[in-house]
Amino acid sequence: MKIGIDLGGSHIAVGLIESSGKVLSKKEVQILKEDENNIKDVIENYIFGAIEEFRQKGKIESIGVAIPGTVSKTTVVKSVNLGLENYNIVEALHKRIQEPIKIKNDAKCAAIAENTYGSIKQYSSSLFLTLGTGIGGAAIFENKLLSPEDVPGFEFGHMIIKHNGKLCKCGKRGCFEQYGSMKAFKQKIIEELELDNKIDGEQLLKVVENEKDSHIMQEIIDEYITDLSIGISNLINIFEPEAIGIGGSFVYFADILLPKLKDKILSDNLLFNKRESLIINTAMLGNDAGMIGASLI
Ligand SMILES: [Zn+2]
Repeated sequence: MKIGIDLGGSHIAVGLIESSGKVLSKKEVQILKEDENNIKDVIENYIFGAIEEFRQKGKIESIGVAIPGTVSKTTVVKSVNLGLENYNIVEALHKRIQEPIKIKNDAKCAAIAENTYGSIKQYSSSLFLTLGTGIGGAAIFENKLLSPEDVPGFEFGHMIIKHNGKLCKCGKRGCFEQYGSMKAFKQKIIEELELDNKIDGEQLLKVVENEKDSHIMQEIIDEYITDLSIGISNLINIFEPEAIGIGGSFVYFADILLPKLKDKILSDNLLFNKRESLIINTAMLGNDAGMIGASLI
């Protein structure tokens, strides 16, 4: 059995995973505001406790950790969401854990899981994008995750799609994630419809469903789909994937957005090699994708 750990921006999930990918047991905790000052202790202590408990259930072969940010070998180089920089998490965990430990960027972990068990399983070459607060990405070629030596790479969210566009948290301007992320979509709706900034995802989905035929909502959706299709068609032109998997909170809005996205990519003049059809599947493993993928690294 293996351990997969997902360090989200707001939670820690530790799972005991069978070799078939089945989650045998899972422990989860929210990261609170007051945890921010001693975030490393919070992470390490929770992981130590959970693994101690899972040891009672059988032998643990290895441990993988999905990290929301940039990683290099054993170190979290930077995670804006967790407020971490140059943190050698593998070394820290080895203080009390003897089993092999590996870490990887969370979007890459989700892509590995979706390629092994989920939405892009049947395809040997595919792309996986997480559309949520930002845009994460991974490319799979001949069933292998493409990865540069020192950094995660494949930062699809930070390709520039607009000259002198909106300022991105990475410091550049006009990045794809400033236009194509679900955060960008939600922000636009909140501004245009003058909604409360604290509206949650479920309520927002209801608003979109109820208003989808109104002129204002159609305009918002059209603008979002136009930007999203530019980013994704750029990726198709580079990788020519057999299929694309999309995860993140986009999945909840897929009934409304996905048909429009496919149609836009195919009918606008965006693709170098014209296609009759396009396979874009929504992620199947949901919130467990990062954790399951981490157990596979
Ligand atoms: Zn950026």
